Amino acid sequence: MNILSMPNSFNELVRCVGISKSYLTDQGLVRALDSVDMVLESARTMALVGPSGCGKSTLLLIMAGLEKPDKGEMLFRSRTLEKPPREVALTLQDYGLFPWKTVRANVELGLKIRKETIDWKKIMELLDELDISDKLEVHPQQLSGGQKQRVALARALVLNPELLLLDEPFAALDTLNRERLQELAAKLWRQRRFAMALVTHNIQEAVRLGQRIMVMGGAPGTILKTVDNPMACAADYFGTPEFYDKCSEVRSQLELIA
Ligand code: ADP
Ligand code: MG
Repeated sequence: MNILSMPNSFNELVRCVGISKSYLTDQGLVRALDSVDMVLESARTMALVGPSGCGKSTLLLIMAGLEKPDKGEMLFRSRTLEKPPREVALTLQDYGLFPWKTVRANVELGLKIRKETIDWKKIMELLDELDISDKLEVHPQQLSGGQKQRVALARALVLNPELLLLDEPFAALDTLNRERLQELAAKLWRQRRFAMALVTHNIQEAVRLGQRIMVMGGAPGTILKTVDNPMACAADYFGTPEFYDKCSEVRSQLELIA
């Protein structure tokens, strides 16, 4: 079934309708996205996969309300998105941490900007979960890549978002750390049930975390194929024959683009 023909259900959080976006550069107009349609429901996850330059980050920034589409509409709870909604948290590929601030200051930054109460008891529970509660007073350069990513996740999750947007969150990590953080993200989702959209180049990561996998391609980028993957984020999915079958399915879709 075409996603846009799905009824506008009560749990729909995000709907992109015919979104196109170009950037004006010194070399002229760069078309990043063309007529992208997609839906994400509350408490569901999706992964965006596709080659470099096909507009994945642009789509995430539009979902965050940080870029405006030239054409089409980005709806959040059935309303056109005019500015970044409070319910959305975004982590960038380079972690986006301030090097001159301690972990503590980085983690509480979003709450301070929003003038929200800072409940350190709750924050410490989250930091314990992320295994960084002993790093509060250090600066990001004293942390490993995996720890920096955990701090970035903490900074997003303390905002208690309904929608968590992750742009290639674990790309810079070694395989083992990457897999640990994928499981941690899945576990946090199982506990908190935010909606999540994740950009990744990594097929296994997409299959592990995305209940709907959007395969993107082209310049300008479009969504070429949607793969349903309802077992994503389940504790016992990774490494099963069904998991590897789904990886093959996504891989064959990506090979059609290459
Ligand atoms: P992806 O994340 O899939 O690699 P992007 O969304 O970053 O793709 O980029 C899509 C296209 O838009 C690319 O051609 C890229 O060079 C261009 N682009 C992205 N952001 C900007 C920007 N701020 N200014 C100009 N061009 C941009
Ligand atoms: Mg990108």
